[in-house]
Amino acid sequence: METYGMILNGEVRVAANAFDVLNPVTEEVAGRASACSVAQLEEAMTSSAQAFRAWSADEGARREALRTGATLLAQAAEKIGPVLTMEQGKPIAQAIEEVYAAAAWIGYYAELERPRQLVRDDATGHIEVFRRPMGVVAAITPWNFPVGLATWKIGPALRAGNTMVLKPSPFTPLATVLMGEVLAEALPPGVLNVVTGDDVLGASMVSHPVPRKVSFTGSVQTGKRVAQAAALDLKRVTLELGGNDAAIVLEGTAPDQIAEAIFGGAFANAGQICSAIKRIYAHRSIVDDLTDELADRARSIVVGDGMDPATQMGPINNAPQYERVRLLVARALKNGAVAVAGGGPLDRPGYFMAPTILRNVQEGDPVVDEEQFGPVLPVMAFDDVDEAVRRANGTTFGLSGSVWSNDPDHAAEIAARLSCGTAWVNTHLALAPDLPFGGVKWSGIGVENGPWGLEEFTDIQLLHVARQSAAVVTGREA
Ligand code: NAD
Repeated sequence: METYGMILNGEVRVAANAFDVLNPVTEEVAGRASACSVAQLEEAMTSSAQAFRAWSADEGARREALRTGATLLAQAAEKIGPVLTMEQGKPIAQAIEEVYAAAAWIGYYAELERPRQLVRDDATGHIEVFRRPMGVVAAITPWNFPVGLATWKIGPALRAGNTMVLKPSPFTPLATVLMGEVLAEALPPGVLNVVTGDDVLGASMVSHPVPRKVSFTGSVQTGKRVAQAAALDLKRVTLELGGNDAAIVLEGTAPDQIAEAIFGGAFANAGQICSAIKRIYAHRSIVDDLTDELADRARSIVVGDGMDPATQMGPINNAPQYERVRLLVARALKNGAVAVAGGGPLDRPGYFMAPTILRNVQEGDPVVDEEQFGPVLPVMAFDDVDEAVRRANGTTFGLSGSVWSNDPDHAAEIAARLSCGTAWVNTHLALAPDLPFGGVKWSGIGVENGPWGLEEFTDIQLLHVARQSAAVVTGREA
């Protein structure tokens, strides 16, 4: 069985120890990943620190390298896609699409124009705000979109002039290493190191003295640990954490016209998306019809091995997550919930749950209160809109949410009342490289994507060249 290397100082390097990466369809080994040693992490940090000086000095060269990297990554999509499917479980077409999207994200940051931020240029002086790179970024990613989410960090951080040590999840390290290998052809050595290992390796990166910034995507629980560890060194953090997104479906909305989009918003990637729809509040007058529409789709979607082109939904990625989703559903059913579709594991090997639509369930049940992160959707009724907004906001999460209606203006007013980073109307999961994405409350700190995401990888430096001795603003000048 092949052991994948890591990307250290521009080279592919296999470690002395390795760990198994399982295929969630077969529960068999899909490949072996290098277990980064203490010395190899040192090498990664040192080479990223050394690369920083030249990399941060030449923006034109950075843009060119990222442009080339994006092109090479797109060319490698058909090669990386199957590895992603085998370790992650998602259907092959979606895995290939993820690599293309990753390339588009890097390409976006190669092309992004960064206008000068001139504050004042007059007889008194020249005042300009610069955005300076921070140095080495420690980037840590989860297992649901390992390639895509890594480029949400690589693109902006590198474009801003930082270098990076990136660690993917131990459940899905292989495609990330392949991506690192491809990008190494375009980037100077040390600009992007990719190390693989367990959670302890992630913690070692956060507490390591070299990185000035930690960009983390993962669970709330780990995010809090990362924030605590980073605080000891006052490292800056961007935390993209979990969500428990509500979709509110207003009275008068035709269920058959929105069911497809809502189903996709909840069940894409087998529900393993931070900003997937995880709870539905539908007006009582339409909740039964909407449930039927969703249940029809849950029963007919083709679930199976992502390598089979007919498959539309794969398994849950790993055993602990499968166990968690299985228990959440079992507990809800025990508490009186009704599974209108699905309701338990599929009778086959692998981490497969039947796509599940639950009714007769509400707040107080963990399947509603917690982030299920799997192919399970509770559908609840509401009677008035204030109640729906209150219930949608009644959570420690605040990633995104959506409101569905045939009156988009009215829906937009309600969406604006949601306590979350993204409020959609008549859509969900509409993500793009130029749109800021981030959570409030426990869903995170800071944003990714767009110019806002790039700024998270910078410090402000004010340059003030005085031409007259600067007057202190007292407010009494007039
Ligand atoms: P996780 O928190 O278990 O792990 C994420 C990463 O952190 C992994 O690489 C892991 O090895 C590493 N890690 C674990 N302990 C660490 C520590 N103490 N210090 C540093 N690193 C550590 O999350 P997961 O189970 O891989 O991913 C699922 C979670 O990610 C869900 O909650 C999901 O909502 C969230 N997520 C959020 C976003 C977003 O953009 N907001 C996107 C995707 C996933």
